[in-house]
Amino acid sequence: MATALDKPIQVARVREDFPIFASLPQPFAYLDSAATAQKPRAVLEAVVRHLGRANANVHRGLYPLARAADEAFEGARRRIAAFTGADPKGTVFTKNATEAINLIAYAWGRENLGPGDAVLISELEHHANLVPWQQLCRERGAELRYLEIDDQGTLSLQQLQAELERGGVKLVSVAHVSNVLGTINPVAEIVSLARRAGAVTVIDGAQAVPQLPVDVKEIDADFYVWTGHKALGPTGIGVLHGRVELLQRLEPFLTGGDMIATVERQRATWNEPPWRFEAGTPPIAEAVGLAAAVEYLEGIGMERVRAHEQALGGYLLARLGEIPGLAIYGPSDPSRRAGLASFTIEGIHPHDIAELVGREGVCIRAGHHCAQPLMARLGVPATARASLALYNDEQDVDLLIAALRKAVALFNR
Ligand code: PMP
Repeated sequence: MATALDKPIQVARVREDFPIFASLPQPFAYLDSAATAQKPRAVLEAVVRHLGRANANVHRGLYPLARAADEAFEGARRRIAAFTGADPKGTVFTKNATEAINLIAYAWGRENLGPGDAVLISELEHHANLVPWQQLCRERGAELRYLEIDDQGTLSLQQLQAELERGGVKLVSVAHVSNVLGTINPVAEIVSLARRAGAVTVIDGAQAVPQLPVDVKEIDADFYVWTGHKALGPTGIGVLHGRVELLQRLEPFLTGGDMIATVERQRATWNEPPWRFEAGTPPIAEAVGLAAAVEYLEGIGMERVRAHEQALGGYLLARLGEIPGLAIYGPSDPSRRAGLASFTIEGIHPHDIAELVGREGVCIRAGHHCAQPLMARLGVPATARASLALYNDEQDVDLLIAALRKAVALFNR
Protein backbone atom coordinates (compact mmCIF):
# COMPACT_ATOMS: atom_id res chain seq x y z
CA MET A 1 0.00 0.00 0.00
CA ALA A 2 1.29 3.46 -0.87
CA THR A 3 2.01 5.63 2.16
CA ALA A 4 2.74 9.31 2.61
CA LEU A 5 6.43 8.44 2.75
CA ASP A 6 6.30 7.07 -0.82
CA LYS A 7 5.71 10.58 -2.12
CA PRO A 8 8.08 12.74 -0.10
CA ILE A 9 7.79 16.49 -0.15
CA GLN A 10 10.04 18.15 -2.72
CA VAL A 11 11.46 20.84 -0.49
CA ALA A 12 13.15 22.79 -3.31
CA ARG A 13 9.78 23.11 -5.05
CA VAL A 14 7.96 23.97 -1.85
CA ARG A 15 10.49 26.73 -1.16
CA GLU A 16 9.67 28.36 -4.48
CA ASP A 17 6.17 28.94 -3.10
CA PHE A 18 7.58 31.00 -0.19
CA PRO A 19 8.86 34.40 -1.41
CA ILE A 20 10.93 35.01 1.74
CA PHE A 21 13.46 32.34 0.76
CA ALA A 22 14.40 34.19 -2.42
CA SER A 23 14.32 37.63 -0.82
CA LEU A 24 16.82 37.15 2.01
CA PRO A 25 20.60 36.77 1.72
CA GLN A 26 21.91 33.19 1.82
CA PRO A 27 22.66 31.12 3.80
CA PHE A 28 19.30 31.32 5.50
CA ALA A 29 18.06 28.38 7.53
CA TYR A 30 14.74 29.24 9.10
CA LEU A 31 14.38 26.88 12.05
CA ASP A 32 11.85 28.87 14.07
CA SER A 33 8.50 27.81 12.65
CA ALA A 34 7.18 26.86 16.09
CA ALA A 35 7.31 30.59 16.85
CA THR A 36 5.72 31.57 13.55
CA ALA A 37 5.72 29.98 10.10
CA GLN A 38 6.70 31.57 6.81
CA LYS A 39 3.89 32.29 4.35
CA PRO A 40 3.37 30.86 0.90
CA ARG A 41 2.62 33.18 -2.01
CA ALA A 42 -0.94 31.80 -2.15
CA VAL A 43 -1.62 33.34 1.28
CA LEU A 44 -0.05 36.70 0.42
CA GLU A 45 -1.99 36.85 -2.83
CA ALA A 46 -5.30 35.86 -1.24
CA VAL A 47 -4.98 38.66 1.33
CA VAL A 48 -3.96 41.28 -1.26
CA ARG A 49 -6.68 40.11 -3.67
CA HIS A 50 -9.30 40.31 -0.96
CA LEU A 51 -8.26 43.77 0.23
CA GLY A 52 -7.82 45.06 -3.31
CA ARG A 53 -10.96 43.67 -4.89
CA ALA A 54 -13.49 42.44 -2.35
CA ASN A 55 -13.04 44.62 0.72
CA ALA A 56 -16.17 45.64 2.64
CA ASN A 57 -17.29 45.06 6.20
CA VAL A 58 -19.18 41.86 6.89
CA HIS A 59 -22.61 41.01 8.28
CA ARG A 60 -24.25 44.38 7.74
CA GLY A 61 -24.05 45.30 4.10
CA LEU A 62 -26.82 44.94 1.51
CA TYR A 63 -24.89 45.96 -1.61
CA PRO A 64 -23.16 43.37 -3.82
CA LEU A 65 -19.59 44.11 -2.66
CA ALA A 66 -20.60 43.68 0.99
CA ARG A 67 -22.34 40.42 0.15
CA ALA A 68 -19.17 39.26 -1.59
CA ALA A 69 -17.15 40.12 1.53
CA ASP A 70 -19.66 38.17 3.63
CA GLU A 71 -19.31 35.19 1.39
CA ALA A 72 -15.51 35.45 1.44
CA PHE A 73 -15.50 35.54 5.24
CA GLU A 74 -18.08 32.84 5.88
CA GLY A 75 -16.62 30.77 3.04
CA ALA A 76 -13.23 31.02 4.78
CA ARG A 77 -14.86 29.81 7.99
CA ARG A 78 -16.30 26.76 6.20
CA ARG A 79 -12.94 26.06 4.54
CA ILE A 80 -10.97 26.36 7.79
CA ALA A 81 -13.50 24.25 9.72
CA ALA A 82 -13.34 21.54 7.05
CA PHE A 83 -9.53 21.40 7.38
CA THR A 84 -9.82 20.07 10.92
CA GLY A 85 -13.14 18.23 10.41
CA ALA A 86 -15.01 20.78 12.53
CA ASP A 87 -18.51 22.22 12.38
CA PRO A 88 -18.43 25.81 11.01
CA LYS A 89 -21.20 26.76 13.49
CA GLY A 90 -18.83 25.92 16.32
CA THR A 91 -15.79 27.55 14.67
CA VAL A 92 -15.09 30.94 16.23
CA PHE A 93 -12.42 33.32 15.01
CA THR A 94 -10.33 34.98 17.70
CA LYS A 95 -7.14 37.03 17.63
CA ASN A 96 -4.92 34.01 18.35
CA ALA A 97 -4.83 30.79 20.39
CA THR A 98 -4.20 32.80 23.55
CA GLU A 99 -7.42 34.75 23.11
CA ALA A 100 -9.32 31.55 22.35
CA ILE A 101 -8.24 30.05 25.71
CA ASN A 102 -9.03 33.30 27.52
CA LEU A 103 -12.48 33.18 25.90
CA ILE A 104 -13.11 29.73 27.36
CA ALA A 105 -11.71 30.69 30.78
CA TYR A 106 -13.97 33.73 30.82
CA ALA A 107 -17.16 32.48 29.21
CA TRP A 108 -17.15 28.90 30.52
CA GLY A 109 -15.04 29.38 33.63
CA ARG A 110 -16.91 32.20 35.30
CA GLU A 111 -20.22 30.31 35.01
CA ASN A 112 -18.98 26.86 35.94
CA LEU A 113 -16.14 27.04 38.40
CA GLY A 114 -16.26 27.70 42.13
CA PRO A 115 -14.58 26.89 45.45
CA GLY A 116 -13.75 23.19 45.75
CA ASP A 117 -13.49 22.77 41.97
CA ALA A 118 -10.23 22.12 40.14
CA VAL A 119 -8.74 22.82 36.73
CA LEU A 120 -6.23 20.20 35.64
CA ILE A 121 -3.44 21.16 33.24
CA SER A 122 0.07 19.75 32.79
CA GLU A 123 3.67 20.73 33.44
CA LEU A 124 4.37 21.10 29.73
CA GLU A 125 1.88 23.87 29.00
CA HIS A 126 2.62 27.12 27.21
CA HIS A 127 1.73 30.17 29.33
CA ALA A 128 -1.27 30.64 27.02
CA ASN A 129 -2.74 27.45 28.48
CA LEU A 130 -1.64 28.18 32.01
CA VAL A 131 -1.97 31.82 33.05
CA PRO A 132 -5.67 32.16 32.04
CA TRP A 133 -6.44 29.13 34.28
CA GLN A 134 -4.34 30.57 37.11
CA GLN A 135 -6.29 33.79 36.95
CA LEU A 136 -9.62 31.99 36.73
CA CYS A 137 -8.82 29.70 39.68
CA ARG A 138 -7.67 32.65 41.77
CA GLU A 139 -10.83 34.60 41.04
CA ARG A 140 -13.19 31.69 41.61
CA GLY A 141 -11.44 30.15 44.62
CA ALA A 142 -10.71 26.99 42.64
CA GLU A 143 -7.57 24.88 42.56
CA LEU A 144 -5.11 24.57 39.67
CA ARG A 145 -3.57 21.10 39.50
CA TYR A 146 -0.80 19.78 37.30
CA LEU A 147 -0.17 16.48 35.56
CA GLU A 148 3.54 15.70 35.74
CA ILE A 149 5.85 14.77 32.92
CA ASP A 150 8.32 11.91 33.12
CA ASP A 151 11.96 12.17 32.10
CA GLN A 152 11.00 11.61 28.45
CA GLY A 153 8.64 14.58 28.66
CA THR A 154 5.50 12.48 28.42
CA LEU A 155 2.29 12.53 30.46
CA SER A 156 0.89 9.53 32.24
CA LEU A 157 -2.71 8.44 31.67
CA GLN A 158 -2.54 6.63 35.03
CA GLN A 159 -1.81 9.90 36.76
CA LEU A 160 -4.66 11.54 34.85
CA GLN A 161 -6.96 8.75 35.99
CA ALA A 162 -5.80 9.16 39.58
CA GLU A 163 -6.34 12.94 39.49
CA LEU A 164 -9.82 12.46 38.06
CA GLU A 165 -10.62 9.90 40.77
CA ARG A 166 -9.46 12.33 43.44
CA GLY A 167 -12.51 14.32 42.40
CA GLY A 168 -13.35 17.98 41.85
CA VAL A 169 -11.84 18.25 38.36
CA LYS A 170 -14.23 20.36 36.30
CA LEU A 171 -11.93 21.07 33.36
CA VAL A 172 -8.88 19.41 31.82
CA SER A 173 -6.76 21.45 29.41
CA VAL A 174 -3.59 20.15 27.78
CA ALA A 175 -1.47 20.83 24.72
CA HIS A 176 -1.80 18.49 21.77
CA VAL A 177 1.89 19.07 21.00
CA SER A 178 4.40 20.67 23.38
CA ASN A 179 6.17 23.71 21.94
CA VAL A 180 9.27 22.90 24.02
CA LEU A 181 9.53 19.12 24.22
CA GLY A 182 7.74 18.28 20.98
CA THR A 183 5.75 15.62 22.87
CA ILE A 184 2.62 14.52 21.03
CA ASN A 185 0.06 13.91 23.75
CA PRO A 186 -2.59 11.16 23.45
CA VAL A 187 -5.34 13.76 23.37
CA ALA A 188 -8.21 11.48 22.29
CA GLU A 189 -7.54 9.21 25.30
CA ILE A 190 -7.16 12.21 27.62
CA VAL A 191 -10.48 13.63 26.40
CA SER A 192 -12.25 10.31 26.77
CA LEU A 193 -11.00 9.74 30.35
CA ALA A 194 -11.82 13.32 31.34
CA ARG A 195 -15.31 13.14 29.85
CA ARG A 196 -16.04 9.89 31.69
CA ALA A 197 -15.21 11.77 34.89
CA GLY A 198 -17.57 14.59 33.90
CA ALA A 199 -14.86 17.17 33.10
CA VAL A 200 -14.95 19.64 30.22
CA THR A 201 -11.93 19.34 27.92
CA VAL A 202 -9.77 21.90 26.16
CA ILE A 203 -6.96 20.99 23.76
CA ASP A 204 -4.34 23.54 22.79
CA GLY A 205 -3.55 22.60 19.20
CA ALA A 206 -1.30 25.60 18.41
CA GLN A 207 1.68 23.35 17.58
CA ALA A 208 -0.33 20.39 16.30
CA VAL A 209 -2.48 21.78 13.49
CA PRO A 210 0.53 23.06 11.49
CA GLN A 211 2.20 19.67 11.39
CA LEU A 212 -0.14 16.78 12.09
CA PRO A 213 -3.33 15.65 10.39
CA VAL A 214 -5.87 16.81 12.99
CA ASP A 215 -9.50 15.69 13.05
CA VAL A 216 -11.27 17.44 15.90
CA LYS A 217 -14.24 15.07 15.66
CA GLU A 218 -11.95 12.13 16.36
CA ILE A 219 -10.36 13.89 19.33
CA ASP A 220 -13.83 14.99 20.42
CA ALA A 221 -12.74 17.66 22.92
CA ASP A 222 -15.30 20.23 24.04
CA PHE A 223 -12.91 22.94 22.84
CA TYR A 224 -9.95 22.70 20.47
CA VAL A 225 -7.92 25.87 19.79
CA TRP A 226 -5.17 26.78 17.35
CA THR A 227 -3.54 29.83 15.82
CA GLY A 228 -3.31 30.93 12.18
CA HIS A 229 0.22 32.28 11.99
CA LYS A 230 1.90 28.99 12.87
CA ALA A 231 -0.15 27.20 10.20
CA LEU A 232 1.24 29.32 7.30
CA GLY A 233 -1.56 31.88 7.73
CA PRO A 234 -1.48 35.55 8.69
CA THR A 235 -1.04 36.84 12.24
CA GLY A 236 -4.14 38.22 13.94
CA ILE A 237 -6.37 35.17 13.65
CA GLY A 238 -6.92 32.24 15.98
CA VAL A 239 -9.46 29.46 15.81
CA LEU A 240 -11.68 28.05 18.53
CA HIS A 241 -13.62 24.92 17.68
CA GLY A 242 -16.28 24.45 20.33
CA ARG A 243 -19.07 21.92 20.78
CA VAL A 244 -22.04 23.83 19.36
CA GLU A 245 -24.51 22.87 22.15
CA LEU A 246 -21.96 24.02 24.72
CA LEU A 247 -21.25 27.32 22.93
CA GLN A 248 -25.01 27.93 22.77
CA ARG A 249 -25.18 27.78 26.56
CA LEU A 250 -22.29 30.20 27.12
CA GLU A 251 -22.48 33.88 27.80
CA PRO A 252 -20.26 36.04 25.57
CA PHE A 253 -16.62 36.89 26.26
CA LEU A 254 -16.37 40.33 24.64
CA THR A 255 -19.48 42.39 23.94
CA GLY A 256 -20.39 45.12 21.46
CA GLY A 257 -21.31 45.15 17.81
CA ASP A 258 -22.04 42.07 15.71
CA MET A 259 -22.41 39.65 18.64
CA ILE A 260 -25.93 40.77 19.61
CA ALA A 261 -29.43 39.79 18.50
CA THR A 262 -31.26 42.80 20.00
CA VAL A 263 -30.19 45.75 22.11
CA GLU A 264 -32.45 47.85 24.32
CA ARG A 265 -31.37 50.75 26.49
CA GLN A 266 -30.67 48.57 29.54
CA ARG A 267 -30.07 45.07 28.16
CA ALA A 268 -29.23 43.00 25.14
CA THR A 269 -29.69 39.48 23.80
CA TRP A 270 -27.04 37.48 22.06
CA ASN A 271 -26.49 36.28 18.54
CA GLU A 272 -26.02 32.55 17.90
CA PRO A 273 -22.54 30.96 17.91
CA PRO A 274 -20.06 31.45 16.33
CA TRP A 275 -20.92 35.16 15.94
CA ARG A 276 -21.84 35.54 19.65
CA PHE A 277 -18.12 35.26 20.35
CA GLU A 278 -16.92 37.61 17.61
CA ALA A 279 -17.57 41.12 18.96
CA GLY A 280 -16.69 43.94 16.58
CA THR A 281 -15.27 43.70 13.08
CA PRO A 282 -13.71 40.26 12.80
CA PRO A 283 -10.35 39.39 11.16
CA ILE A 284 -11.79 39.27 7.64
CA ALA A 285 -8.67 39.46 5.44
CA GLU A 286 -6.88 37.22 7.96
CA ALA A 287 -9.61 34.58 7.62
CA VAL A 288 -9.31 34.73 3.84
CA GLY A 289 -5.54 34.35 4.19
CA LEU A 290 -5.86 31.44 6.60
CA ALA A 291 -8.31 29.70 4.27
CA ALA A 292 -5.65 29.97 1.55
CA ALA A 293 -3.07 28.56 3.98
CA VAL A 294 -5.11 25.48 4.85
CA GLU A 295 -5.87 24.97 1.18
CA TYR A 296 -2.14 25.06 0.49
CA LEU A 297 -1.46 22.55 3.28
CA GLU A 298 -4.23 20.28 2.03
CA GLY A 299 -2.79 20.51 -1.47
CA ILE A 300 0.44 19.05 -0.11
CA GLY A 301 -1.36 16.72 2.28
CA MET A 302 -0.98 16.74 6.04
CA GLU A 303 0.09 13.07 6.07
CA ARG A 304 3.05 14.05 3.89
CA VAL A 305 3.80 17.11 6.03
CA ARG A 306 3.90 14.88 9.10
CA ALA A 307 6.02 12.21 7.37
CA HIS A 308 8.47 14.91 6.26
CA GLU A 309 8.73 16.50 9.70
CA GLN A 310 9.03 13.17 11.48
CA ALA A 311 11.87 12.04 9.21
CA LEU A 312 13.63 15.41 9.35
CA GLY A 313 13.00 15.57 13.11
CA GLY A 314 14.78 12.23 13.44
CA TYR A 315 17.70 13.60 11.44
CA LEU A 316 17.78 16.73 13.62
CA LEU A 317 17.89 14.64 16.83
CA ALA A 318 20.63 12.41 15.44
CA ARG A 319 22.80 15.30 14.27
CA LEU A 320 22.34 17.28 17.51
CA GLY A 321 23.51 14.15 19.34
CA GLU A 322 26.92 14.57 17.65
CA ILE A 323 27.65 17.85 19.48
CA PRO A 324 29.65 17.28 22.67
CA GLY A 325 27.94 18.44 25.86
CA LEU A 326 24.56 18.87 24.17
CA ALA A 327 21.40 17.67 25.99
CA ILE A 328 18.07 17.25 24.20
CA TYR A 329 14.76 17.47 26.06
CA GLY A 330 11.63 15.48 25.29
CA PRO A 331 10.87 12.06 23.83
CA SER A 332 13.77 10.37 22.04
CA ASP A 333 11.46 8.50 19.63
CA PRO A 334 10.74 10.74 16.58
CA SER A 335 7.37 9.03 16.07
CA ARG A 336 6.24 10.34 19.45
CA ARG A 337 7.36 13.90 18.92
CA ALA A 338 6.80 16.78 16.56
CA GLY A 339 9.53 18.22 14.34
CA LEU A 340 11.35 20.34 16.85
CA ALA A 341 14.14 19.97 19.39
CA SER A 342 14.94 21.95 22.52
CA PHE A 343 18.48 21.61 23.76
CA THR A 344 21.19 23.06 25.96
CA ILE A 345 24.96 22.90 25.57
CA GLU A 346 27.11 22.65 28.67
CA GLY A 347 28.86 25.94 29.42
CA ILE A 348 27.04 28.05 26.79
CA HIS A 349 23.92 30.05 27.59
CA PRO A 350 21.08 29.31 25.13
CA HIS A 351 20.91 33.02 24.24
CA ASP A 352 24.57 32.91 23.21
CA ILE A 353 23.88 29.79 21.14
CA ALA A 354 21.02 31.48 19.29
CA GLU A 355 23.00 34.68 18.81
CA LEU A 356 26.07 32.87 17.48
CA VAL A 357 24.19 30.60 15.05
CA GLY A 358 22.16 33.64 13.98
CA ARG A 359 25.41 35.16 12.67
CA GLU A 360 25.68 32.13 10.37
CA GLY A 361 22.19 32.67 8.94
CA VAL A 362 20.53 30.08 11.17
CA CYS A 363 17.35 31.21 12.90
CA ILE A 364 16.58 29.42 16.15
CA ARG A 365 14.89 30.59 19.34
CA ALA A 366 16.29 30.67 22.85
CA GLY A 367 14.59 31.40 26.12
CA HIS A 368 11.85 29.96 28.30
CA HIS A 369 9.51 29.57 25.30
CA CYS A 370 6.60 30.89 27.38
CA ALA A 371 6.83 27.81 29.58
CA GLN A 372 8.54 28.89 32.79
CA PRO A 373 7.05 26.16 35.03
CA LEU A 374 8.32 23.60 32.50
CA MET A 375 11.80 25.17 32.56
CA ALA A 376 11.73 24.88 36.37
CA ARG A 377 10.72 21.22 36.08
CA LEU A 378 13.58 20.60 33.62
CA GLY A 379 15.95 22.45 35.95
CA VAL A 380 17.14 24.93 33.32
CA PRO A 381 16.53 28.67 32.98
CA ALA A 382 16.18 28.43 29.22
CA THR A 383 16.78 26.19 26.20
CA ALA A 384 17.64 26.73 22.56
CA ARG A 385 14.99 25.40 20.17
CA ALA A 386 15.18 24.46 16.50
CA SER A 387 11.80 23.83 14.90
CA LEU A 388 10.95 22.48 11.47
CA ALA A 389 8.33 22.99 8.80
CA LEU A 390 7.59 21.59 5.37
CA TYR A 391 10.07 24.02 3.74
CA ASN A 392 13.08 22.74 5.72
CA ASP A 393 15.49 20.07 4.61
CA GLU A 394 18.65 18.31 5.78
CA GLN A 395 20.77 21.21 4.52
CA ASP A 396 19.11 23.52 7.06
CA VAL A 397 19.92 21.05 9.83
CA ASP A 398 23.50 20.70 8.52
CA LEU A 399 23.89 24.50 8.61
CA LEU A 400 22.69 24.48 12.21
CA ILE A 401 25.12 21.74 13.18
CA ALA A 402 28.06 23.51 11.52
CA ALA A 403 27.10 26.76 13.26
CA LEU A 404 26.77 24.97 16.62
CA ARG A 405 30.21 23.40 16.18
CA LYS A 406 31.64 26.85 15.55
CA ALA A 407 29.93 28.21 18.66
CA VAL A 408 31.23 25.35 20.78
CA ALA A 409 34.76 25.87 19.40
CA LEU A 410 34.58 29.58 20.24
CA PHE A 411 33.55 28.88 23.83
CA ASN A 412 36.14 26.15 24.32
CA ARG A 413 39.03 28.21 22.99
N1 PMP B 1 0.11 27.14 22.75
C1 PMP B 1 1.27 26.69 22.30
C2 PMP B 1 1.63 25.26 22.53
C3 PMP B 1 2.11 27.54 21.58
O1 PMP B 1 3.28 27.08 21.12
C4 PMP B 1 1.72 28.88 21.36
C5 PMP B 1 2.61 29.86 20.61
N2 PMP B 1 3.94 29.87 20.97
C6 PMP B 1 0.50 29.30 21.87
C7 PMP B 1 -0.28 28.41 22.55
C8 PMP B 1 0.02 30.70 21.70
O2 PMP B 1 -0.19 31.04 20.37
P1 PMP B 1 -0.52 32.56 20.04
O3 PMP B 1 0.66 33.35 20.54
O4 PMP B 1 -0.66 32.64 18.58
O5 PMP B 1 -1.76 32.89 20.79
